[in-house]
Order: sequence, then C-alpha cells, then structure tokens
Amino acid sequence: MCGIIGYAGETSAVPILLDGLEALEYRGYDSAGVAVVSPDGKLQFSKSKGRLKVLREHLANQEPLVGNIGIGHTRWATHGEPNDVNSHPHIGNKNKIAVVHNGIIENYMEIRAYLEKKGVEFVSETDTEVIAQLIEYYYFKDYDLLGSVYKTLHRLRGAYAIGVLCADYPGRMIAARKDAPLLIGYGDKCNFIASDVTALLKHTRTVSYMNDDEVAVITPYKITFFDGDRGVIEKEKTEVEWDVSSAEKGGYAHFMLKEIMEQPEAVRKTISPRIKDNRIFFEELAGKEELLKGINKIYMIACGSAYHVGMVGKYIIEKLARIPVEAALASEFRYASPLVDEHTLIIVISQSGETLDSMAALREAKRLGARVLSIVNVIGSSIARESDEVIYTMAGPEIAVATTKAYNTQLIILTMFGYYLADLIGAVSKEEYDEFLSELGKLPEQMQKLLDSADVCQQAASKYFNRNSVFFIGRNLDYALCLEGSLKLKEISYIHSESYAAGELKHGTISLIEPGTLVVAMTTYAPLLEKTVSNIVEVQSRGAEVISVVSESDKDKMNTSYENTFVVPDSHPFLKPNLSVIPLQLFAYYVALNRGCDIDKPRNLAKSVTVE
Ligand code: GLU
Repeated sequence: MCGIIGYAGETSAVPILLDGLEALEYRGYDSAGVAVVSPDGKLQFSKSKGRLKVLREHLANQEPLVGNIGIGHTRWATHGEPNDVNSHPHIGNKNKIAVVHNGIIENYMEIRAYLEKKGVEFVSETDTEVIAQLIEYYYFKDYDLLGSVYKTLHRLRGAYAIGVLCADYPGRMIAARKDAPLLIGYGDKCNFIASDVTALLKHTRTVSYMNDDEVAVITPYKITFFDGDRGVIEKEKTEVEWDVSSAEKGGYAHFMLKEIMEQPEAVRKTISPRIKDNRIFFEELAGKEELLKGINKIYMIACGSAYHVGMVGKYIIEKLARIPVEAALASEFRYASPLVDEHTLIIVISQSGETLDSMAALREAKRLGARVLSIVNVIGSSIARESDEVIYTMAGPEIAVATTKAYNTQLIILTMFGYYLADLIGAVSKEEYDEFLSELGKLPEQMQKLLDSADVCQQAASKYFNRNSVFFIGRNLDYALCLEGSLKLKEISYIHSESYAAGELKHGTISLIEPGTLVVAMTTYAPLLEKTVSNIVEVQSRGAEVISVVSESDKDKMNTSYENTFVVPDSHPFLKPNLSVIPLQLFAYYVALNRGCDIDKPRNLAKSVTVE
C-alpha cells in the first residue's frame, strides 16, 4: 500500500524523490524516508514518522544528502507502529544496503531468528528489515550484489515490491516484485522505479510494468531486466496517457471534491468509445461472443466500494440476463471453495488493478478454470494483465483515498455490460434496449445538473455533521447504494454508520433508533418506493430525523422536509445508481469538512490496498 520511488540520474536525487513521494503520499502516509548513495560510495538516509512535510523539515535541518541515485518511501504500517525507526528505507547493520518495501514478508520471524543467530542486530519491528539485513549478509559473503538480491528473494514468502541501493554502487539500483505493483520509468539520462505511475508523470510517460519474480538493474543510462532465474529478458515499453494536471488538485480544496466534480466527464469518456451505430460495443470482447453465450453463472469479485459496484451489478445483470450473479468479497471468495467452472464468468473490479485480495481471488478463479474479465482503471496493472479480458474505466488518476469517479465509471461499465450480455443472449427487447441507450446519452449531463445543486447536501451536512451514528436504508438497487453511502461517510468523517436493507430494520436494528438518530433513506428505486416510505415512517415514529434521496418525479410522495430531500433527475432505473450516489458522496464530503477531517488521507487507510 505504500509508495515507492527510485531515481538514477545525473542530478541530485533528493528533490526528485520528495517530489515523487508527494504524488504517492495517498498510498500510505504514516511515515516517509529517503536514502541516497553519494558518488564516493556513502550511503545516507533520513526518515521520520508522520507526513512527508515532517521529512522535508528534517532534511532541511540536516546536512544535505548528496547523491544522484536514491530511493524513497511513504509507509502504511503493517508490522510495527509508525515511528522513525520503523520507517523505510531500512538499512543493513554495516550501512551497506538500503531497502524500501511495499507488502508483507510472511516468514520474517524465521529469517530474523536465522540472522540474529549469525550476529545481525535488528533495530526495527518491521518485516521489511529482514530484506535489507539478508541482502547485506549475503553481500558480505561474495560481494555479488545481484546474486545477494536473488538469494534473498528466494527465501522470502509473502508479497513485495522493493528498491535496493548498495553503497558500493553509486550508479546502480535494483528493483524486484512479487504480488505488489512496481514499474520502471524511462527518462532522459535518468531512469526511475515507482509503485505508481502518478509519481513519474512529471518526468516521463514511458514505462515498463514489472511482472512477478522479475528483477531489474537500473542505472541512469540502462535498464536490464531479469526473470526469476536471472536470465536477461526484454520488456515492452508502454506510453501512459494521463497528464500531470490530471493528477493535481487544480484549484479544488481536496482531491475528493475534484474527483466528485470530474464524474460527468469520466463517465462520458467511459461510455463514448463503447457506443457504435447505436449499439453497445466492447471492442475488448470482440470475438468472445460465443464464450460469453456459454456463461451460466457470474461472480463479481471486489473489495470495498468496488464490491458495492458488484452488488449493483448483481441486481442489474440478474434482472436483464437472467443469469445467476453473486457479488463476493475478494478476501472471502479466495478461501471459500467457490463453485466455479469453465462456464463461470468472474468479473474482478478494481480501480488500481493492484488490490492484492482481488488479485489472489482472480488467480484462484483461474486455477478453478473460470474465465476472468476485469474492470480496471489503471492500464497495464497486475489485475489487467492477468485477466483473460479487461475493460478499462476512463476515470483518469484517482488520488483521494475515498473513491468517487472510479466507482461511478465501474458502475456504468457493469450496467452497459449487462445490456451487452442480455442483447447477446436475446434476453432484452429492442424497445427496452433502445430506451436504455437514449437515457444513457443523457447521463453525464444529468450528473452535472446534480453537481450544480451541491448546496443542498452542503447545508444538510452542516446541520448533521456532529451526529455520532447514522443509518442508511433502502431496498434493492437503493440498498446497494446505502452500502456505498455508509462507507463513504464512515471512511472520511469517522462517524459510525450502518447500512440496512430497509425491510430488514424491523428484524433487529430498529431498536437502535432513538430520538435524534439520523437516517438516510434511499427511495430512488421506483418499484419499491412505497415500501421504503413505510420504513421511513416507522423510524420517524421512533424519533429519527430522515434525509431522503428521491427522484424528481417522486419528490412529492416524500414526507421529508425540502432541506432534507436530495432530489436526483429522473432517469432509467438502472442509471439511477450513477446519479443517486452523488448526493451521498457530497454529503460525506461536507460532513467530513465540517468535522475538520483530513479528507484525502483518512486515518488508518490508504489507496490501492496491496496487502492481504
Ligand atoms: N510491511 C512493511 C512495513 O510495515 C511495508 C508496509 C508498506 O507497504 O508500506 O513496514
């Protein structure tokens, strides 16, 4: 989950590393550090607990770190509390080797015990330190740096992306990965490593993605790639289309708000290449029609918000295509002995394409013989590469930890896929299909309209921001949205919130409703509106204050006050989720703003969860 950056070039490394870390801070931000090797072979480092600015202050108050080669890291602690010592880079006892690491080394205790017996002294509580100490231990046996890295990697169990420096090699850096993202960037008289392409956009857009078990040796002028057995390999170069400004805040107070506002454009970009001659067309699936026709079961596999997208997808695809669909949490699916065969389609949904739980579930599904289609935002990411088919969302870089525009683009892809599949198997009438398409064309504009009336959500947020507990209730598609609305609120405002299928409240949870409890009721799914209205009355009778989210043409049916009613434009029922999630995102954002929370970097969280 952390951010890794490495630079080998002709100018001072530290400013470039800090710049890269700035772009990566959203991936982990409990501590940060850098290490460089000077031209005369001195390994120097600086690291500190806290945000990047603390490290910057440290660096400003010490002797400059001299060197044109260096590695940097922002941490999301897994082993050992966030403190200066546990921060990366980790340094070998003899000050020869420095390592930054993303992931978890599962057998670190065993390696630590082995090295301690040999007299190595550990200073941190991390799993990572064993990597630095073990490389150094081997290095002092035969002075073969690459060989020491290989020997070390062969002993590690778990997940890693690493960057390695050695004091004896002032012009060389080594990178390796297994189950954690890492890419190489090609610059002008310089080269880079990074866990995420956003860290490199200022310098280059030409990259190569590393695969599991690969190792790279990077100098300012040359990059050599090796496979797991140390054989030299050629790697493909990819041009990244994202530009620098799309990864910057552009005048908004927070990335989250910017990304909420970017949704109409992101959805437009995601839809438009997939409409041809008034039909939904996925170029990515061309030639796969017969395979898709043979599918008799679908699993949506994802984590967090992407799982909520899968829930919406389940309702929509089951209704349209009449194929059983299960939405499964990736971390559960992989250990659940799922009933999967070659007629099962697995749809993996992940913004980063690096989510480790989803990746592991994907591999398990493939092992069981299923076909995997992934819906991913980051081109060339691990999940994209390992899937049989991939459909990219066109959300652009998403930096805020709480997802908004990626969620919305994932949603639209799934809904369009539902129609595509239903059409393929003859399960949808021409009228219904055409009606959907005509409403689809209006979606970005309707989203914009909703964003233009953000003040209703802002006002409600300033009224309710100090509540301790919030319930979200809804039925069917609205229930799936409640899951997302509730998660959005809790992850950035730290308010306890729960989502319930509205009909389920009376089976237990209603006992928690008391005078003043805030309930957000979703009533945009027209066929069940009256049922949910009854549930609203039930909680109101017990003293709850209710905010409702309702479609324009149904707003008069609601019994909530004007200022407690978020109205969404009328649209096709299956496009409502793309609209009705917007007031939920805005409400969560403004509540967190009122509470003074660190919205883009909520506590204990990080973007792109690359640990299990
Ligand atoms: N497991 C390592 C640690 O706790 C790396 C965590 C990360 O990926 O940031 O230090």
